[in-house]
Amino acid sequence: MYRSLLILISMFLFTHCQQVILEEELEESSQFGGNITSDLGPYFLTFQEEARSYGIDIDYESSNVTATLQQINNGNVAGTCTTNGHNLRDIVIDQSFWDNASHLLKEMVIFHELGHCILGRGHFEGQFSNGICQSIMRSGLGTCIDAYTNNNRDYFIDELFLESD
Ligand SMILES: [Zn+2]
Repeated sequence: MYRSLLILISMFLFTHCQQVILEEELEESSQFGGNITSDLGPYFLTFQEEARSYGIDIDYESSNVTATLQQINNGNVAGTCTTNGHNLRDIVIDQSFWDNASHLLKEMVIFHELGHCILGRGHFEGQFSNGICQSIMRSGLGTCIDAYTNNNRDYFIDELFLESD
């Protein structure tokens, strides 16, 4: 009788602890500055780190960056950036795209939207003679072919930050 009561109590304590830890992790993972949903946070942090290596300091909070995952329901649109360049920099990433995309594809789409929202870049449709896009700032409506692979990543990151003003 006593033993089963003890087991019950310790099980309760254990579950309680787990819940507390989960909440702490959630809280921590939403500390990216700005108002960025935690699933997207790691990609925003990577962008911030990459930017720093080009001498660009990004403060998501003071830049009023907001980012969410939502259904976009607009053809193949995987992400959007709505900005007035000051107090509005809202990024939406399509939930269905997110559920099916690889890590690199997620990064490419988020960096593209941050290219608009943070770096102020427009679209650039340049392509190499083999048809590969010269920039991840391509619109996706042109004819060039994306090749954001592990091997090409450094080139595209260079292009993204060096071609911005
Ligand atoms: Zn775009």
